[in-house]
Amino acid sequence: MNDNDLLTFDREHLWHPYTSMRDPLPVYPVKSASGVRIQLTDGRELIDGMSSWWAAIHGYNHPVLNLAVTEQLAKMSHVMFGGLTHEPAVELAKRLILLTPPSLTKVFFADSGSVAVEAAIKMALQYWRAAGKPKRNRLLTVRSGYHGDTSGAMSVCDPVTGMHSLFSDILVQHLFAESPRCRFGCDWNENYMTDLKEKLYKNKDSIAAVILEPVVQGAGGMKFYSPRYLQRLRELCYETKTLLLFDEIATGFGRTGRLFAMEYAGVVPDIICFGKALTGGYMTLSAVMCTDHVAETISDGHPSQLMHGPTFMANPLACAVAGASIDLLLATDWQEQVQKIESILKEVLIPVSECSGVADVRVLGAIGVIETTKPVDVAALQKRFVESGVWVRPFGQLIYLMPPFIIEESDLRYLGKTVANITEEWLQQSLF
Ligand SMILES: *Cc1c(COP(=O)(O)O)cnc(C)c1O
Repeated sequence: MNDNDLLTFDREHLWHPYTSMRDPLPVYPVKSASGVRIQLTDGRELIDGMSSWWAAIHGYNHPVLNLAVTEQLAKMSHVMFGGLTHEPAVELAKRLILLTPPSLTKVFFADSGSVAVEAAIKMALQYWRAAGKPKRNRLLTVRSGYHGDTSGAMSVCDPVTGMHSLFSDILVQHLFAESPRCRFGCDWNENYMTDLKEKLYKNKDSIAAVILEPVVQGAGGMKFYSPRYLQRLRELCYETKTLLLFDEIATGFGRTGRLFAMEYAGVVPDIICFGKALTGGYMTLSAVMCTDHVAETISDGHPSQLMHGPTFMANPLACAVAGASIDLLLATDWQEQVQKIESILKEVLIPVSECSGVADVRVLGAIGVIETTKPVDVAALQKRFVESGVWVRPFGQLIYLMPPFIIEESDLRYLGKTVANITEEWLQQSLF
């Protein structure tokens, strides 16, 4: 199929994320991807600045991950998880249990991040039903969060940047505290807790769990906040006997500079969700983990089963590649790689903060963010990026980078500088 036919069919029939069928943003046909490079069908090569949405931490077409998939493929690509089990799932669960804090012992594998959030919410709700307090059936979260696109997940996304106004008639009305105000690395002030504390105490008899992304709020605004917030939140949850639910779907597996972002705070939740980089970006898989106490309470209730079971849960191919991806991560000096990415991103991106039209520049781990004062023209900016050989997809007022950890220094400098230069150029021409 030539590019024209492909693009014509795509434009007429395929829905891309958050796009209109009438006037979609342009798409670029990809032939293959390898290492940190995405090859377009027209022969151009782009240095990947997105890790395909936080996922491809080892880059593309990695021989070790390819082998894990093909070896598993020769055995079985899938069997149902109802009544059957297999080594890839058990091996992956062992790794997750080993890597996370000791109290997280029970693992539920689902098939995407959003579904993990749904299952995690259900765990929290079933916990309180089983504990004889069915009125504890609401969630408390913070603004600027993102937890996925299914309706349960959507109901705890930021009410403004999320889709609340569109779906307000079907979404459960949960409670929102202000977004954590204390920036990462800044001094703590107890006032930062006031709003959340008030909402939690006032509604403690109706709140099942507090759900939030630890340290880094991803698609809801790419904000980095103080780990102290999580420490105080943990205390408040103990005081009010509220479950604490962390969504580490974006932050898990090294992206923030720690294996899990919660490690910055040394805080352990009752329930946690993983996804995205879990399989090194090879395929879709997610995991929800919880404590013995949560699992046992649910199991003592009526029904005693956790009422969730996706068709493709614990898919063997996905579990096998996830296990291999974790081993690969741990076998490399990923912490040093991420630190190096952080220092180079700081070096090339921070100067952009001087530019008028830039609201903020921030870097944490392998995440670099330029926040502009006005929304960016995604299509036009992306076209310039592609012409310069980099793959970056801005959204809203955010131009951000989160490259694969394996990116080499020269590629990273090129990527960072290209994005910095094009952004400055655009701001100076006021073409937003
Ligand atoms: C991406 C994301 C999700 C949703 O995951 P999907 O696999 O897209 O369903 C949930 N929470 C966070 C923090 C995410 O970044």
